[in-house]
Amino acid sequence: VTGSRRFARLVTEGRVEEAVEVARQQVDNGAQMVDVNMDEGLLDSEAAMARFLNLLAAEPDISRVPLMIDSSKWSVIEAGLKCVQGKGVVNSISLKEGEAQFLEHARLVRRYGAAVVVMAFDEQGQADTADRKVAIAGRAYRLLTERAGFPPEDIILDPNIFAIATGIEEHAAYGLDYIEATRRIKATLPHTKVSGGVSNVSFSFRGNDPVREAIHSVFLYHAIRAGMDMGIVNAGQLAIYEDIPPDLRERVEDVVLNRRPDATERLLAVAETAGRERAGTAGNGREQLEWRTRPVRERLTHALVEGIADYIVEDTEEARQLFDRPIEVIEGPLMDGMNVVGDLFGSGKMFLPQVVKSARVMKKAVAHLIPYIEAEKQAANDARAKGKVLLATVKGDVHDIGKNIVGVVLQCNNYQVIDLGVMVSAAKIIETARAENVDIIGLSGLITPSLEEMSFTAGELEREGFRVPLLIGGATTSRVHTAVKIEPRYHGPTVHVLDASRAVGVASSLLSDAQHDDFVRGVRDEYRKVREERAGESGSGRERPTLAEARSNRLRVDASVPAPRPCFLGVRALAPYPLAELVDYIDWTPFFQAWELAGRYPAILEDPTVGAAARNLFADAERMLDEIVAENLLEARAAVGFFPANAVGDDIELYADESRRDVRAVIYTLRQQLSKSGGRPNLALADFVAPREGGSIDYVGGFAVTAGHGLDALVARYEAAHDDYSAILAKALADRLAEALAERLHERVRTELWGYAREESLNNEALIREAYQGIRPAPGYPACPDHTEKRTLFDLLGAGERAGMVLTESYAMLPTASVSGWYFWRPEARYFGVGKVGRDQVEDYARRKGIDVATAERWLATNLAYER
Ligand code: SAH
Repeated sequence: VTGSRRFARLVTEGRVEEAVEVARQQVDNGAQMVDVNMDEGLLDSEAAMARFLNLLAAEPDISRVPLMIDSSKWSVIEAGLKCVQGKGVVNSISLKEGEAQFLEHARLVRRYGAAVVVMAFDEQGQADTADRKVAIAGRAYRLLTERAGFPPEDIILDPNIFAIATGIEEHAAYGLDYIEATRRIKATLPHTKVSGGVSNVSFSFRGNDPVREAIHSVFLYHAIRAGMDMGIVNAGQLAIYEDIPPDLRERVEDVVLNRRPDATERLLAVAETAGRERAGTAGNGREQLEWRTRPVRERLTHALVEGIADYIVEDTEEARQLFDRPIEVIEGPLMDGMNVVGDLFGSGKMFLPQVVKSARVMKKAVAHLIPYIEAEKQAANDARAKGKVLLATVKGDVHDIGKNIVGVVLQCNNYQVIDLGVMVSAAKIIETARAENVDIIGLSGLITPSLEEMSFTAGELEREGFRVPLLIGGATTSRVHTAVKIEPRYHGPTVHVLDASRAVGVASSLLSDAQHDDFVRGVRDEYRKVREERAGESGSGRERPTLAEARSNRLRVDASVPAPRPCFLGVRALAPYPLAELVDYIDWTPFFQAWELAGRYPAILEDPTVGAAARNLFADAERMLDEIVAENLLEARAAVGFFPANAVGDDIELYADESRRDVRAVIYTLRQQLSKSGGRPNLALADFVAPREGGSIDYVGGFAVTAGHGLDALVARYEAAHDDYSAILAKALADRLAEALAERLHERVRTELWGYAREESLNNEALIREAYQGIRPAPGYPACPDHTEKRTLFDLLGAGERAGMVLTESYAMLPTASVSGWYFWRPEARYFGVGKVGRDQVEDYARRKGIDVATAERWLATNLAYER
């Protein structure tokens, strides 16, 4: 109520609801703490404080920031301390009334678990000079830490900000006094924080907000450099230091730093015009338009940082006319802008979706310039790039969202990227690497067979005499796999890259003369240790049961429970499947993961760190999804089938009809060979089906769904418009729709098509949690890690004709946005991991499947408990 007239009015008129909105606005505008003050003569301040804090406690988006309980009356502070949740901050106590009372209040604050602001105030009054400020701060610090048991990091010292430019000579140094005191406090009183009420400093310019904002930001700029940690200021009204017109800034600086005797007069002389020019357009609206009035360089940077493509062509054109050669626009302002983006990303202030959006702006700008630099383009490109990186998704694999993000991030950082796309053979990679003389090769892949293909490619690079650094990335890749299976096959530096945000760091270390050797040595040592540790482990591990022992410990389902008969036997196509039905079944959490935003949906939207980035991304996703659904830009298709089935050993036989005489197909399952304790079984999927020998009948289902038809055209359209952001977004959404279709179809299977759980009624959150009966294990996943089993599934379902789905040589599904799996209905059925299997099982499995052992070992490479 003392700091904001609007808030005071709302509180005194009893409009508490609206008063709460003021707090919400502060937080929305970036406030990191909310200071609540109810010191108003007509109010019952204690009651008002308690009431208001209780209201805030019920508002999650406000109470996610700490509260500062602000009063000059101790009883009001204590009323607030009794309500505040989490750790609050008391504003403030001081030595005004002497040491005894200071200590009493301090001990109480400590008991309530709060931090405390101490004003530089003592028995003599408020401290105005730097010396007095520092002396009082030191005295308070010693009392608090030595006598009141205060941890120094809970002490916030406020050395008093007083108004400057008041026309009174003694006030001229007040700004400087605060800054100087701050510097000395931070140097001598470890762990404490320094705060200040910033708006005091500009008190003499009341009514002229533009000048006040300029003073605040200049003052903060210097005070923060001196060590100021926090300040009380309207978070929505802060100018950016660099944005203050130079003439005004200089005059403000003269006043704040007391640089010349006529500083105040000189500021007054321009204050009125400055106020007029910027008045009339307040708040965000002003900010949005205001950047359009800045010089073109700054506009380009702003557009890049904010990812705004709306004006980029006209701004780029304007810049082009300023320079002699169009290439200079790229090398100058555009690269400068991207460097800002790179720095913000590197320091965790921007996130992947924003960076990819910035890249879109950059691409549009470059696209505008290309016709002008056509002739010199190649030379220029080579000259400016930090290095040439070849990227490829390996043969047999089709997944490229992660790889594309890496490509964009590298390009943003001034690397030249040659992206060979998906399903790229080792031969093609080698040929291109040689022809283009690349500096780095990056291999990407998502499915486990790609791991084999990556080590094969590494071996081929070795055979061809390459020493170019090799980067390995993608969902199933790992540091351990890279160390154990890939690095030993290649003499060039080989590095696993955990996610897209690390790619730049790794690339720059590899290509920097200064860091290269240390970096490579570090990685080599690390990977050697990984290998040694692994070698040590394999000898000492627990004994594995033999296959026969594991089988005798299988799970025995209650085969006396009669198997429910599906509504139909054989296969049906549901194609095209209406997209609108799928939207509510989307699991958004993996969508954010794809963009390297960590957190669960929907909470991620409110996350203090990534929330803003997540919200923007989500808004873009919803917009595109609406368009996809409304205009049928993608087509979803499904094939689903049910078959009479029984288990025979670890195989599941699927029969042509209910007579169960003709075996139509066999699912070969793998059994856990871990030593189990506590009566836990060694599972195989076959355990979830009634065995043939008991005479019980049973059924198994299968499905193959896709939402990827039309995706290539959509992606091509975006790429033609230099819009990688939308291209990646479209792919991620198609993946989401495919998973949603798998979820929706499974629900329909349980309640309708198979109908063993007709009464089920679950919301999407419960579906995502798999709170239902039965499972849909997917070949290639832990319960059935052999990707080649997809062949059986696809053939049974006629997935090609019915859903337009095919398999690559590594059994990746095309279109990319596809899901397939088996249905098991029994309540005992659950997901598990087969884990490592012994040679006895691999030989048995190969024999059952009619393949040779070496082939089985290749497909099961990541599951072998032994060295091939
Ligand atoms: N809601 C998620 C669903 C996919 S992940 C999404 O939208 O991305 C869960 C699916 O992965 C399961 O339905 C199953 O098909 C597969 N899966 C998970 N664990 C498995 C395991 N251990 N073995 C086989 N398949 C598994």
